[in-house]
Amino acid sequence: MAYDFDLFVIGGGSGGVRCARIAAGYGARVGVAEERFWGGTCVNIGCVPKKLMVMAAEYGNASLDAMGFGWSRADTSHDWKALIAAKDREIGRLNGAYTGLLERAGVKVFDARAVFIDAHTLDVGGQRITAERIVIATGGKPLPLPVPGGEHAIVSDGAFFLPEMPKRVVLFGGGYIAVEFAGIFRGLGAEVDLVMRQALPLRGFDEEIRRELAQALTDSGIRVHGQSGVHEITEHGGVKTVHLPDSSTIETDLAFAAIGRRANTAGLGLETVGVTRNEAKAVMVDPATSQTNVENIYAIGDVTDRLNLTPVAIAEGHSLADALYGNGPRRWDLHRVATAVFSSPPIATVGLTEEQAAAHAATDVYVSRFTPMRHTLSGRVRKTLMKLVVDHATQKVIGAHMIGEDSAEIMQGLSIAINAGATKGDFDRTVGIHPTAAEEFVTMRTITRTVG
Ligand code: FAD
Ligand code: NDP
Repeated sequence: MAYDFDLFVIGGGSGGVRCARIAAGYGARVGVAEERFWGGTCVNIGCVPKKLMVMAAEYGNASLDAMGFGWSRADTSHDWKALIAAKDREIGRLNGAYTGLLERAGVKVFDARAVFIDAHTLDVGGQRITAERIVIATGGKPLPLPVPGGEHAIVSDGAFFLPEMPKRVVLFGGGYIAVEFAGIFRGLGAEVDLVMRQALPLRGFDEEIRRELAQALTDSGIRVHGQSGVHEITEHGGVKTVHLPDSSTIETDLAFAAIGRRANTAGLGLETVGVTRNEAKAVMVDPATSQTNVENIYAIGDVTDRLNLTPVAIAEGHSLADALYGNGPRRWDLHRVATAVFSSPPIATVGLTEEQAAAHAATDVYVSRFTPMRHTLSGRVRKTLMKLVVDHATQKVIGAHMIGEDSAEIMQGLSIAINAGATKGDFDRTVGIHPTAAEEFVTMRTITRTVG
């Protein structure tokens, strides 16, 4: 049968755009549908605007830090509307860049929602379109707060378009988004309460890093409510009252739920075509091929709810296009993916935590905690902690963790060395760059402890 397209991608986000563009580059006839905004979550309501807002928040503190270096005036007033307008201009530019990239690659773009009619047929904004292969790249969406009055709490989607800067913010959750936005709002001058059910933020991260982050959040003036939760939110005249389990209450201008995300699969017609999903409604795939249980249907990125990061969605989209239309799939190592949390200060990590490593084998742990150079003069209480996790028997570095300025920039290079199998000896042989914080990763000589 002759299909309208060789490949049709549902979703113009990080994964979908890359898959469509690369497949078209190999000569495939490709279409892609996007129902909301090109570039998806990352570009519009995720990584990019979030990072711009983190930068905005950091400038406020940096201008205060400058006074320790002899600057006499620190203007710390902030214009929220100006920030949002500048951010929107940049995102608008990126939206255009994405559609431009697709069109130049020969992809036909549809500004429409796509829904399955059968395994080879889609309804795309009312138009029937057939394709030999279909890729589901519909991403995820934030979970609403499942408590009475939960509708009074915004989710991250709304945080990028608030008309006014809130003076008081209560965040629920202890994951990536909660700690990142706690830093953003605090840095921009709000009173911030962070309410989470664990004792420490970022479950799954290295324990020592989690403790250091909790301390840093407190040092920055954020009120951290560990082992807590929210029973109810009530609202009167624009002021929200958050009711905590211990019967105490917090009044706030903005309640913000960041309690995880769910795969975006509702109403896609997946039941009609028999694509299998897990209990969390994420599409199940063979990780080696991105193929679902239906032979010609594939899924990539957040809709599969595995490692929900932009570079992972891009890697999956790119290797799928390579595998289907190129010279075999490009290989990415998705086992040890470096990740960063743009909290204040930021965290970056690659490989195993001390706890994970110690559960399997004897592990040498190297830790360095210090005041970074700029804060020796700024006077701001802000520590940096760096840590290497080394397999005792092989001396391979199997994990690196950092909380502190520039950690994400530093970890990218380190992750190459770790993924290449570098040993502690290789690190020791490497001459550092001075004066940097990064050099600490090649100068830690004394084992802090051996565990496991
Ligand atoms: P998406 O980018 O979500 O794209 C899916 C697209 O499909 C959407 O545009 C949607 O409108 C469209 N769509 C859905 N259904 C249909 C349909 N039926 N028809 C047509 N179109 C449809 N990751 C990082 O690596 N670093 C970060 O710093 C980072 N920060 C983040 C901050 C926030 C606040 C959030 C929410 C996420 C962040 N992420 C970050 C995660 C990152 O955004 C996602 O992992 C990434 O966007 C996933 O890409 P994707 O292509 O799978 O899905
Ligand atoms: P996370 O999965 O990171 O964290 C969810 C948090 O919400 C956890 O602290 C969890 O607690 C808590 N939680 C879950 N359910 C409830 C509940 N019912 N009541 C109270 N608390 C609850 O999700 P996020 O929403 O922060 O972010 C979603 C994903 O987006 C991230 O996992 C990441 O993949 C991606 N992302 C990446 C970023 C980056 O790369 N810098 C930035 C932002 C997002 P518990 O630990 O107890 O389960």
